[in-house]
Amino acid sequence: MAEKLRVGDNELGKLYTDGKVRKRREWRGVSDTLYDYWRWLGTMSVLAKFIVKPRNIKAMFRYRWMANYLASPMMLDRFSQGLRGEYLRIMHEEYDTVFKDIGLLLDKVFRGDKRIGNDKKYSDKVVLVDENEMTAVMMGFKTLKGLSRETISTYVPVLLNQHSMEHYIDVAQLQGLAPDVCPMPEAEAGISIDDDAPILGKCAVQCNTTCDGSLLSNGVISRRLINVDGIPVFQLAAPLRHREDDVQDYAAGEIKNAIAFIEEHTGEKWDWDYYFECAKRVNYATECRQEWLEMNRTDYPQVFGGNLALYTETNYMAICGKVVDFEKADRKITELARRAYDKKLKMVPQYRHRAIIWGVQSHYYFDFLVWLVNCWGIVPLTDMLSMVSTRKLVTEDTPENRETAYYDMAWLTENMIMRNRTHGGYKVLLDELWEYVEQFNADMVILWEHQSCKALNGMHGQFEEKAREKGIPLVWVGHDLFDPRIVSRQGVRDQINNFLRTVMNEEPIDPSLENLPDEKSW
Ligand code: SF4
Repeated sequence: MAEKLRVGDNELGKLYTDGKVRKRREWRGVSDTLYDYWRWLGTMSVLAKFIVKPRNIKAMFRYRWMANYLASPMMLDRFSQGLRGEYLRIMHEEYDTVFKDIGLLLDKVFRGDKRIGNDKKYSDKVVLVDENEMTAVMMGFKTLKGLSRETISTYVPVLLNQHSMEHYIDVAQLQGLAPDVCPMPEAEAGISIDDDAPILGKCAVQCNTTCDGSLLSNGVISRRLINVDGIPVFQLAAPLRHREDDVQDYAAGEIKNAIAFIEEHTGEKWDWDYYFECAKRVNYATECRQEWLEMNRTDYPQVFGGNLALYTETNYMAICGKVVDFEKADRKITELARRAYDKKLKMVPQYRHRAIIWGVQSHYYFDFLVWLVNCWGIVPLTDMLSMVSTRKLVTEDTPENRETAYYDMAWLTENMIMRNRTHGGYKVLLDELWEYVEQFNADMVILWEHQSCKALNGMHGQFEEKAREKGIPLVWVGHDLFDPRIVSRQGVRDQINNFLRTVMNEEPIDPSLENLPDEKSW
């Protein structure tokens, strides 16, 4: 029997069915259930307002990936499993903000899309940006819209429905792309090949982040953009050894070139006032995140796991200080975290392990981090993609600072959340992991082994050697990012279950979560 853990449902696995949705909503006690239900109604109303727009209905029928958005409320339920009090409120503050922003992004893309809204004047103000790049080069273009088609067609659908990208991966492979290419860029290329990407924009900026797989998909996508859609593309090539001093002049030069390209094609001018305004917001996000991470070094971590990861990624990559709502969310999250910290609250009554999650994670398409803490009492203190920039950007408008700002934007671009570790040498990938283990007083490392990510897998043996030397239990968790046919959700969970049972000799806190019939679940 599971011990009594928290108000309301304790055996969360019992809520699952083998269909798409749960048996019922989670019972969290009166006030938290009402709060959660009220936020759920908010999500439903955003969805309803979105669906009733004729433009969006048209898009629903045109684009195969669009139907996945119907599963949005389920995604929020997955990420809030077992959460109560401040943790539940932090989660909603974050995910509801992200959800609203994605709704706006869809709306903007369809407005300019030739096949849907076909608003040519609007489309001429759009610069397409790559999903896998920091959008720093848009921080000084107040009148332009930097929109990412990949975010809405690839990245978000796979969060909503783990099977959503299988079709596009197959399309890419049928056209001869190698099956061992990372499924993320491969799916993006597949969408372009399948002619399932919206067509809009005056120009586009692609970036060599994250890796060779991403370069490959950018090649396919830019060919269509330039040759078929008539949209010129700039290739922003950030240096790979990004911590070296001697590459920084080149990196800043690339930023200047990208800005000049956007100015030339849109006729708009870089606005320093807007840039410094955005830089201030990026600094505020960094300040808040540093405070959360500081708390996570203590016995009372507050913003961690699923509540740290996806929000941080969105805030740095897609937002980069351009959206005021994220500053408001940062403030509220920090207030909630401080309150919970002062009260010495814990997310679940029993914390058994303090873990650093490293590598490129697959929790985009399932609730792995929240499952870890609910099922096994493992606290995911931080993860590789959340250990992004800590640098304070210059914010005062002076001639010297305008020059420094190019270096700041280059720094953000080079430190894109994934490639700042998968590239740049063993110091950023290997050594810093063990520094974080010490700083966060962690007693476990969970290392994602993304089967198609050559950048990380090359260091397999060195991770193990260090773990042995330091006496820290390390578990590899294999997955294939966007392709659950290679390793299923339960296949991922089983690797943790087996490790905890056989190596650590432990029993789960909530055994009902150990095996879940969620293969088809949203
Ligand atoms: S997971 Fe690895 S292979 Fe895939 S895009 Fe990121 S760095 Fe590249």
